[in-house]
Amino acid sequence: MDNKRGKGLSFARRIYAPRAIGSGFGGLSLIAALHPLDRPMWLWGLLLLNALVWPHLAFQLSSRAAYPYQTERRNILIDSLCGGFWAATIQFNALPTVIIVSMMMMHNVSAAGPRFLLYGVLAQLAGVFISLLIFGAAFTPATTSLQVYACLPVLILYPLSVGMVSYRLAITLAEHKRALSTLSRTDSLTGLLNHGSWKDLLQLSFLQSRESHSPATLALIDIDHFKQINDTYGHIVGDCVLRQLSKELKDSLRAQDLAGRYGGDEFCVILPNRSLHQAQEIMEQLRQVFCNYQHADEPQLQISVSLSIGLASCRPEFQNASTWLNEADKALYVAKNTGRNKISIGAADTLPESVLSRSPE
Ligand code: GH3
Ligand code: MG
Repeated sequence: MDNKRGKGLSFARRIYAPRAIGSGFGGLSLIAALHPLDRPMWLWGLLLLNALVWPHLAFQLSSRAAYPYQTERRNILIDSLCGGFWAATIQFNALPTVIIVSMMMMHNVSAAGPRFLLYGVLAQLAGVFISLLIFGAAFTPATTSLQVYACLPVLILYPLSVGMVSYRLAITLAEHKRALSTLSRTDSLTGLLNHGSWKDLLQLSFLQSRESHSPATLALIDIDHFKQINDTYGHIVGDCVLRQLSKELKDSLRAQDLAGRYGGDEFCVILPNRSLHQAQEIMEQLRQVFCNYQHADEPQLQISVSLSIGLASCRPEFQNASTWLNEADKALYVAKNTGRNKISIGAADTLPESVLSRSPE
């Protein structure tokens, strides 16, 4: 229900300014059209209420309602009913009547969609009927030049206010779209790229490296015995370790490097324009920094955290990005199976030793 209230409130806020401008400046054109007619005093009071009080009252009613959206739709129908009433009461004076009808239709469609238009038209007809019952039927379509001038403010300002509202709505939608798109590509725990979007970028990086004949290196990083960390210190501490690794990773990379969370305690990095040797230096630094892990909230907690890392450079003989990834995966497997806490490189890379650094577990 809270969500519905939020939606309804923003709907009510969106309508507030166009209604206030339409009723206020529309009132001016009605004053000019009513002036030559012999109308009772109470009608002038009603006109002032409709023009100056109703927009604010309508907003208060909808913003305080349990279901603002429903209340606002009812308010829009009251707008249409009043529009029909005033059109008949000014004896269908041509210009103000055309303005009322077009304004109400724009109001109905822009606020509640084309299907709502039918209800708006029916409400206008009901307003016409009420006026005919009170004042009888009369038709005086001629519009004097003074009345034309009185119509100019509403003619200019009402479409402008609707346009402004539509523009702001379009900007908000674009922002939401961007935020959603970022969210759908991000891992919620670490803020790194998630598995799917990282893999899309892997494909792109593979093709780019191929076309430009520039080096690129892939790193797969896995925390050693992470399950034990979870089992010993709990999942909240485990989450902190994952976040800390992501932070260290971001700090040690350039803007164009692409770091993601492959899943669980496994991370993946594409290092474009980095040779295997350069990537190895960066990863070695990360591995050493992470050996001295200190828990952010509880520095006295001595958690031994080590990393196993598999590296593979993008080689011309690779058929596709999956072969490249597979090569890094195999290197990680070697690191895991030859003692952990080390960096291994892919078998296809022609460096003399596949195990490049090692420290005791
Ligand atoms: P190895 O050295 O072979 O990598 O052993 P390991 O224990 O790190 O590997 P394993 O794959 O057995 O365990 C990974 C654990 O990561 C298991 C799972 O419960 C934990 N895990 C996965 N996602 C999360 C997460 O988001 N938060 C936390 N705290 N733990 C997670
Ligand atoms: Mg692990």
